[in-house]
Amino acid sequence: MNDRCLHAVALGLMVCAWFAADRASAYCQMTTQGGTQIGTSECNEDGAPLVWSNPCLSYAIDYRGSDWMDFADVEAAVDASFETWEKADCGNGSTPNLIFKPSITPSECQRPEYNTTGNVNTIAFLNPWEDPCPDEDDPAYDPMALAVTIVWHNQQTGEILDADIMINDQRATRTSAGGPYANCPDEGCPPGNPGDADLASIVTHEAGHFIGIGHCDPSLPSCVEATMFAVAERTSVEKRTLAQDDRDAVCAIYPPGSLTESCNAIPMGGLQLNCETTDSGNPIACNPTGSVSSGSGCSAAQAPGDTRVTLLLALLGLTVLWRRSGQRDARS
Ligand SMILES: [Zn+2]
Repeated sequence: MNDRCLHAVALGLMVCAWFAADRASAYCQMTTQGGTQIGTSECNEDGAPLVWSNPCLSYAIDYRGSDWMDFADVEAAVDASFETWEKADCGNGSTPNLIFKPSITPSECQRPEYNTTGNVNTIAFLNPWEDPCPDEDDPAYDPMALAVTIVWHNQQTGEILDADIMINDQRATRTSAGGPYANCPDEGCPPGNPGDADLASIVTHEAGHFIGIGHCDPSLPSCVEATMFAVAERTSVEKRTLAQDDRDAVCAIYPPGSLTESCNAIPMGGLQLNCETTDSGNPIACNPTGSVSSGSGCSAAQAPGDTRVTLLLALLGLTVLWRRSGQRDARS
């Protein structure tokens, strides 16, 4: 396959000097040409906006979980994080046209992956913090990143096809981000060395990327308090609560609509919880140099020009199926 069709863009974070945008809202939707908005430049609105065409979305947490928390506590933090976006107040009691269905069965996918033959929007903890699928454009994860979100999308239309969240599970040091993680009390995690980081705050930020929201423009006052501000303090819990700018973003991108709990959250190509081996146990190489045997990426009709954007949340700087009651019918 043509490896130029699938490529990674790794974006840095933490910037200080954006230029003022001529609008009150500071949020920045990701686009097929954007993504630089999470680096040092202003919000780039060129290209097609990234958006899920069917915003009935599933996710699955990798069964290996985190070294720092019980799996049930990880599930609680992750589910609360996605629910925060789903239940955002869009005015008059309305909420965004988004439904998340966490998987009953954990994923077995510890790397970002998109295949036309089946997918899982996986949430995996990595220790060591190494990119499982490095390539020329995305050679390594930033050691200062707490997490990255990889948003696979159609490069022409901007339709999001898959999103994967990788969380840095190494112990943090003075020169690297990472654990320990906790579900912190409302007043914040106690200070320490390095001190716990609030997992829900990290995942709520990454869940914003999962649905196509980039980092807000920090030159505007409304950004600084936002979940989608690129930086936060390690022990803070502020990012687990949306600010008005975050609500403006999700309500504009997914305006209140008609999705119901009976919607279809099966990923593109079908649910495939295991991304690393085939059903017969043969290893699947990382995208884009390898793919499932029936082909993926550019060679398949479903995925012309698919690409991915990797978003980081560093130093403080960061979601899948049907676990909620009454939603088991959506499993496949
Ligand atoms: Zn981010």
